[in-house]
Amino acid sequence: MSQQGPQRFATRCIHAGQAPDPTTGAIMTPVYLTSTFVQASPGVVKDGYDYARSRNPTRTALESNLASLEGGKHGFAFASGLASMDCVLHLLTSGDHVVLCDDVYGGSFRQLDKVFRHHGVTCTRVDMTDLAATERAFMPRTRLVWIETPTNPMLKVVDVAAVAGLARARGASAGWTWGGAAGRTAEPGKTGGTRSPIVVVDNTFASPRLQNPLALGADVTMHSCTKYIGGHSDLVGGALVCNDEELADRLRFLQNAVGAVMSPMDCFLLLRSTKTLHVRMERHSANAMEIARWLTTHPKVERVVYPGLESHPQHALAKRQMSAFGGMITATLRGGLPEARRFLERVHLFALAESLGGVESLIEHPAIMTHASVPAANRAALGISDGLVRLSVGIEDVADLIGDLERALG
Ligand SMILES: *Cc1c(COP(=O)(O)O)cnc(C)c1O
Repeated sequence: MSQQGPQRFATRCIHAGQAPDPTTGAIMTPVYLTSTFVQASPGVVKDGYDYARSRNPTRTALESNLASLEGGKHGFAFASGLASMDCVLHLLTSGDHVVLCDDVYGGSFRQLDKVFRHHGVTCTRVDMTDLAATERAFMPRTRLVWIETPTNPMLKVVDVAAVAGLARARGASAGWTWGGAAGRTAEPGKTGGTRSPIVVVDNTFASPRLQNPLALGADVTMHSCTKYIGGHSDLVGGALVCNDEELADRLRFLQNAVGAVMSPMDCFLLLRSTKTLHVRMERHSANAMEIARWLTTHPKVERVVYPGLESHPQHALAKRQMSAFGGMITATLRGGLPEARRFLERVHLFALAESLGGVESLIEHPAIMTHASVPAANRAALGISDGLVRLSVGIEDVADLIGDLERALG
């Protein structure tokens, strides 16, 4: 029976945005290492390609692939995850306000707190698992809501549909035109919409295989492609996906005007990566589930946080919102820092390193490594203790991974 309607996720991973090269029949999208494109007559360009910061065919293929995977119409690829965040935050002007999760990725908070604050954009951090507190965090000029779910490293799960509902309930903020003056907008005379706060979800930890924020009511999905989308720890990149045409116009304008685009070579590598995204995420999730259950039975482990465990405070929500629970596990060891340090020095297969989302397993100590810049009092409030370790479970044989942890804990 021929398939009706849109293709399934696995098929889109491999084919979306890509067709055999029309000039040669090459099945793989070529890497267009070119800065410019020849015009037939002034202003007459082929397929919209005039200069490679604005558009590049390898990037176009990746951008449509990622858009398809997130169930969106428009994709944008950037030089890093934080460059994609920078693009979104350029929708704002001085005096605007952002509501964001209390344990967002450290670099995301740094960008708001140490860069955009100087441009007059303020923010309020809130525990978004508490909807009443989230609602109270809105201010008259809240223009953007930044959600991360699951969070890092405490793996809190935020109800995207509920928070998006809070943003919509604020209604259109009178007079808001993104980017401010009309002269700075994508097209002269087009000043952008008057609208309720834009809801952005950093979907890095889940990947599009496990969670699609646009379908839950978000306006924009953001990714650090460095992590699961890339999956091989060999590049740094970022992406945005949205559906709204006006928002897409403005983001396209900003992507080109600010210029932190992804290189064609990285786009090519990511097109390889997304071909296996579905298979990788399924294995990451299966391995992590088994390891999380095993860790709960170990006498040296005090607490295991994994959205797939019934003991996780938002387990029911995670089940509703995600199709599987991903590869990230956080665990607290008995014995505090000395035990954690001993354990981290003794693991062998789990590499002691920052970052996450690759096919190889990594492990790290948030208090000393990824979250060292978070003040000790904030770390304590979030539950990031000295005995806490974070695992990025890879797709190796799970028996070898458990063997490694067992030996190191022993
Ligand atoms: C790594 C990461 C980022 C930043 O992405 P880069 O590609 O390092 O710029 C943002 N959010 C989350 C959740 C991340 O893990």
